[in-house]
Amino acid sequence: MARSLSIVCVGGGPAGLYFAISAKLRKSDSDITVIERNPAGITHGWGVGYWDDVLDNLYRNDPVSAREIQRSTGVWSGVEVHVGGKKEAYLGGYGLSMGRQRLLDILAERATDLGVDVQFQREVRDLSEVANADLIVASDGLNSRTRQLFANHWQTDVEVGRNKYLWLGAYHVFDAFTYAFEQTPAGWIWLHAYYLDAERSTCIVECSPETWEGLGFHTLGIDQSIRLLEQIFARQLRGRALINQIHNGERLPWLNFRMISNNSWYHDNVVLVGDSAHTTHFSIGSGTKLAIGDAISLATNLAEHDDLHSALKSYEQQRRPEVAAVQRNAAKSMRWLQDLANHIDQDSVQFAYALSQRFRVRQPLWRYHLHLATQIAALRRVRRTVTSARRSRHARLRERTADPPAAASRQPAPRP
Ligand SMILES: Cc1cc2nc3c(=O)[nH]c(=O)nc-3n(C[C@H](O)[C@H](O)[C@H](O)COP(=O)(O)OP(=O)(O)OC[C@H]3O[C@@H](n4cnc5c(N)ncnc54)[C@H](O)[C@@H]3O)c2cc1C
Repeated sequence: MARSLSIVCVGGGPAGLYFAISAKLRKSDSDITVIERNPAGITHGWGVGYWDDVLDNLYRNDPVSAREIQRSTGVWSGVEVHVGGKKEAYLGGYGLSMGRQRLLDILAERATDLGVDVQFQREVRDLSEVANADLIVASDGLNSRTRQLFANHWQTDVEVGRNKYLWLGAYHVFDAFTYAFEQTPAGWIWLHAYYLDAERSTCIVECSPETWEGLGFHTLGIDQSIRLLEQIFARQLRGRALINQIHNGERLPWLNFRMISNNSWYHDNVVLVGDSAHTTHFSIGSGTKLAIGDAISLATNLAEHDDLHSALKSYEQQRRPEVAAVQRNAAKSMRWLQDLANHIDQDSVQFAYALSQRFRVRQPLWRYHLHLATQIAALRRVRRTVTSARRSRHARLRERTADPPAAASRQPAPRP
């Protein structure tokens, strides 16, 4: 097994914190510091949607934090697709969701219990500040400054999405994952909305740049913009308020999605993980899943290889195929939504099916028939009952077979 390293993670998001936990579990005498620029308990962003495969992975790696994450997670059942005033359409399936802040709190506490030094409210401006580390983990997200320092080396590619999007909360609890497409005089605008907690939901608003400008969002102030969105989506929000988290500016923080990929993920003793290495469009909700997968893989490779270079090389080789597949789907999903005007002018049941298939390979015909059956309330209820029973069985099995990774201190280290 490799010698103990001194490691600094620049950025305390899911990637940095979960890597620190995973590395400590494998080598309890490693000296690991996570540096996060935000104060403890403060982050941007709302709910993190994920699926059972992520929870399975978390349980296999660290049942202690996995149980806490599961306790803080809500389940949404089924998908509703609303297109203007048309009759709504339904899709099957279920998903899991929890607040980003709660996720980070759980991970920071677990990391600290294991002996990681988590430093909040400290921004790394230059890598000379952490030059003593054997390994620097660039877990500083989409706009990673660490990545920018070696831009020529990574050969970063950035594809900028055309649509505008905005990450908000809402004081309305959506039981099903909800897509709501509304037509305005300036064009279509839509919500991706899902459960956040007992009182609130996550709402991502998306539209073309033409619609965005046509509705005046480039000139409207924050409160006016929120009121306008509440009017547009009043039906789905049941008249309840949207919540904006970021108030430092005159306008709402609309963004264009940026798909990041890198030709190389490590350079000397600096390695990219999570969003600094790759991003995936929010419409497929897989960024946190990939960040956690990176974290586990990097920690495992560091524990299994005697020299740093081999560990980093093996990490990159292991992670690339999964990341590439998810990014391909994310790109298809992003482009499909950018091309919405060419899909939406059809019967809502057909449209919902096309939406569900937007990044999938051709499906067998029975799936389409299942979709048609799902539009019938009684059959939809049957489908939900079957899905829910399957989910519960899966959860029980996962809990029974949970086993922490080899070696490593399973007990929390004493607090200093
Ligand atoms: C609208 C939207 C919706 C999304 N929905 C989902 C979803 O439903 N499911 C899902 O799985 N993913 C979702 N994602 C993606 C997910 O948020 C990211 O993929 C995930 O957070 C990546 O984790 P990370 O740790 O790599 O980066 P981040 O979460 O961005 O964390 C990076 C951290 O580094 C800190 N930092 C940055 N620079 C410095 C510095 N110089 N010094 C110190 N600290 C620094 C930041 O403050 C931040 O806390 C969504 C993203 C968006 C934009």
